[in-house]
Formats: sequence, C-alpha cells, structure tokens
Amino acid sequence: MVQERLPDERIDTLSLQILIDRDTCMGSGNCVFWAPGTFDLGDDGISVVLEPAEGEERQMFLAQEGCPTRAISLWRDGVEVTSP
Ligand code: SF4
Repeated sequence: MVQERLPDERIDTLSLQILIDRDTCMGSGNCVFWAPGTFDLGDDGISVVLEPAEGEERQMFLAQEGCPTRAISLWRDGVEVTSP
C-alpha cells in the first residue's frame, strides 16, 4: 500500500529533500539524536523536519540509517538516495 506523504514534511536543504513517513514513524527520537538541527519530535511524538533544516548531509544520512522503522527517505532531483 502506498502511503501518502504530506507536502509540508518535504523541504529542500542543500538540494537534499527529506521525507518522513508519519504512518511509519514510531517516535523513537533516533533522528533527533543524529541530526538535531534537522529533526525534532512534534507534539504528537512524531518526527518533523525543522525549517529551515540545519546540518550536514552526513548527519541526515546517519539519521536515515538510524531510523528503526525506515520512516526517513532522502531525495535529490527526484531520485531516492542512500548513504554515499
Ligand atoms: S528515527 Fe525514525 S522512527 Fe524514530 S522518530 Fe525519527 S523518523 Fe521516527
């Protein structure tokens, strides 16, 4: 089943686009640990992308890799990217 992703969870940062699948996020906070300038937990306990996101791409990839439910995806020019 394809899950809908809300447009306000998608922002551009350093040409890297971050998507959080809110249906998949379990609120573990791992992403906030790895990239505190990019992620935070919202009032509902689900991860949100800070705007503007600050941080290095490496931190964003660490957050993506560290997400226990694979709720974070990173995109560049419409193509999903993984850690270099
Ligand atoms: S690491 Fe993944 S599951 Fe945990 S809060 Fe961040 S997006 Fe949600």
